[in-house]
Amino acid sequence: MANTNFLPLSEFEPTGGYSLMPIRFQRWPNGRIFISNSAGEYFVLSGDDFSKFVKKTLPATSPAYMGLLARQMLRDGSGDWGSDIYASKWFTKKSFLDGFTKLHIFVTTLRCNQSCPYCQVSRQGEVAGCGGFDMSPAVLERSIRFMLASPSDRVTMEFQGGEPLLRFDLLQEAVRKAKELNEKVGKHIDYVLCSNLAILEDRHLEWCRTEGVIISTSLDGPEYLHNKNRPMSNGRPSHETVTRNIRRAQEALGKHAVSALMTTTRESLKYPTEIVDEYLRMDMGSVFIRELNPYGFAVKSATALGYSSDEFFRFYKRVLDRIVEINKAGRTFSESFASIVLTKALTPWTVGFVDLQSPAGAGFGVCVYNYDGDIYVSDEARMLAETGDPTFRLGSVLEDSYDAIFFGESMQTLAASACSEALPGCSDCAYQPYCGADPVRNYRTQGDPAGIRPGAGGFCRRNKQIIEYLMQLVHTADDDLTRILWAWICQEDVNAAKLPA
Ligand code: SF4
Ligand code: SF4
Repeated sequence: MANTNFLPLSEFEPTGGYSLMPIRFQRWPNGRIFISNSAGEYFVLSGDDFSKFVKKTLPATSPAYMGLLARQMLRDGSGDWGSDIYASKWFTKKSFLDGFTKLHIFVTTLRCNQSCPYCQVSRQGEVAGCGGFDMSPAVLERSIRFMLASPSDRVTMEFQGGEPLLRFDLLQEAVRKAKELNEKVGKHIDYVLCSNLAILEDRHLEWCRTEGVIISTSLDGPEYLHNKNRPMSNGRPSHETVTRNIRRAQEALGKHAVSALMTTTRESLKYPTEIVDEYLRMDMGSVFIRELNPYGFAVKSATALGYSSDEFFRFYKRVLDRIVEINKAGRTFSESFASIVLTKALTPWTVGFVDLQSPAGAGFGVCVYNYDGDIYVSDEARMLAETGDPTFRLGSVLEDSYDAIFFGESMQTLAASACSEALPGCSDCAYQPYCGADPVRNYRTQGDPAGIRPGAGGFCRRNKQIIEYLMQLVHTADDDLTRILWAWICQEDVNAAKLPA
């Protein structure tokens, strides 16, 4: 059989006692075949069983047959093939769409006190004279009203920058106003402050504690790496201050209320073990390994900071090796991207992670209120507009209505390419149920919101490699490893976690 990953329609005709249901598949280097369907179910067959499966000679008593039947990948004459179950699984996987946009990002200021070479937000200097890059009270209030007009019962109000703490008064006013206006609406609002923690005063922490604001910060690794990646705008190092402030925040708010992200630069590739160990030293329960984004300043710095997808994948595997070693020694610690992919693949649950959603997270799951009143489908869309291309600018909170913004031309352009199930190359990819659509990135890199992602590098190659690697890990004969991966999915203590029955 040719190594393609779709089957001709004739294969779905009911002969030999059963018919094949729509599937996608991928042959692994070890000869096993990974099969998935649109409801997110997957099954792994030996090459021999797969060959029998498609020739419709698989014995009805074989474990492979039973496994495929249970996952609605084949249908026989034994009664109802499980269409209701299949629909229910699909519905559950897509339930992130309930309530439309849930994550509302407020860029309260573009000013920043750091000068990270990979910065993607067109940061401005922190001096007071740059106040033209701060959100005005009118824009703030209108943006809050847009957030409260979204249909979801539960929304997240996330403050980003620049560095939001440079305008602490705006943050205070934002939460006060959101709570006041929400009295008539009654939504549950989660508050997140994304801060580099280069400044953190006791009054900031007290406000977070009393208002229920959690903190998301950035820690790129040990001192020499973090200082190289994330210098202060005056060139001074930031690591000592940031790690001291992470500790203060953990003590004031609890460890659960402080998380961190890292961004991988070319320099980071040399330190997979040291990065993980720095997170352990800071008593973090996980690390989120992020690739550089091809936007904004990161594009200009790509030569100095960038790397190939293959280099990133090799680094990622070394990070995972170190993390597994730590878990095997009895300390619960996870990698967040892996936990998200595994949860999508191994459980019926949906995951609210906008980068791996179809329809795309951009616009459907997240929107960005810029300091000047413009609304974008994502930070990437905002950066595109900064470079003179407003294709994914939805409108202005000061001039446009909710309907004009969320059902207007830009949103229609996005929606037409938002489902990876229908994108060229993704539509027959076995890993599509665990991956995501990203029309803004397709547009940015290929000039077309649909694009052809396989072969276009970056997002596709990285996701394909990581998803395949994780699924292969799940299918090793190492029960201890499988138990660890399940502990990440269930967010359990690795010492108490058991293999699923
Ligand atoms: S802290 Fe954030 S906004 Fe400031 S320079 Fe670094 S990446 Fe850009
Ligand atoms: S981007 Fe690549 S890995 Fe993801 S679904 Fe599309 S083809 Fe598959």
